[in-house]
Amino acid sequence: MPAAAIEIRRLRKTYAAQKGSAAKEALKGVDLDIPQGSVFGLLGPNGAGKSTLINILAGLVVKTSGTVKIWGFDQDVNPRQSRAAIGVMPQELNLDPFFTPRAALEVQAGLYGVPKSQRQSDAILEMIGLTDKANAYARTLSGGMRRRLLLGKALVHSPQILVLDEPTAGVDIELRQMLWDNVRKLNRERGMTIILTTHYLEEAEQMCDEIAIVNHGEVVAQDSTSNLLGRLDAKSMVILPDGESATLPEGPGLEVERRGAAIVITYNGSQTSAQDVLEAVRTAGIRIRDVKTQEADLEDVFLALTSSAAAAP
Ligand code: ADP
Ligand code: MG
Repeated sequence: MPAAAIEIRRLRKTYAAQKGSAAKEALKGVDLDIPQGSVFGLLGPNGAGKSTLINILAGLVVKTSGTVKIWGFDQDVNPRQSRAAIGVMPQELNLDPFFTPRAALEVQAGLYGVPKSQRQSDAILEMIGLTDKANAYARTLSGGMRRRLLLGKALVHSPQILVLDEPTAGVDIELRQMLWDNVRKLNRERGMTIILTTHYLEEAEQMCDEIAIVNHGEVVAQDSTSNLLGRLDAKSMVILPDGESATLPEGPGLEVERRGAAIVITYNGSQTSAQDVLEAVRTAGIRIRDVKTQEADLEDVFLALTSSAAAAP
């Protein structure tokens, strides 16, 4: 067994210039190891490069340089084996409207060279809840059903690694639940390594053991979900004092700085309450004219991570 399910080194992708748009460097030298058996989240805002990365893994986009090993197989050296190890549910709904779900699964299995005797179309239809619709044309399926069919197609060759690109973007709660149940089951019961991309922090938090944050074509952090959330826990309170304040509030777990006339206090929301912070302000003899609080959002995390990386020795 390979050390990592996916091993990526110095991966770069520049999309060539098109009429009306300049060349775009979508991945700027990504290094990434995705552990076997994990549920791994690629998190980042729109345009970060997540789909580009996924589509290179899937063999749908040609990388500019770097190496990609899937289940130990170098994409360039063993293209067939590396392709067989991975199943991808793409972000786009790219289904042939004239295929029924059963036919779509059979054709996909054929493409992957799965012998007829080893095909599992019935079991997959059952799992994705499309047994009733097995013989309906894809164009008659609802958006949710099409997404489920895409999941089914990703599974026909029983890959060791399943990749889901924004599986829940614009999806209703019921379908989201169903997707998550399936994904958890595949991970726990078959030990399948799951890689998903999302721009929903909460989703990554609930599903993933480990997370890599991608921004502007770079991995800016990779850590276990719990460690990362620790960093995300930062809150801040911005206080506008009534008059000049000579002293600054202080206390355990408080980071205090002046920003113009305001005082900004940063603290960990899970360890310190807003009440504690206000208490420290009062103890410093500061009268409050105005106050507002800010939760760290993804944007802040990116800023914090990129600036701390820059400041590190
Ligand atoms: P994400 O999935 O994180 O939203 P993408 O990988 O889709 O990000 O896009 C990364 C960057 O590459 C974006 O700036 C996007 O506009 C650009 N891009 C993506 N696909 C293409 C393409 N086929 N041609 C040119 N630019 C592209
Ligand atoms: Mg995308």
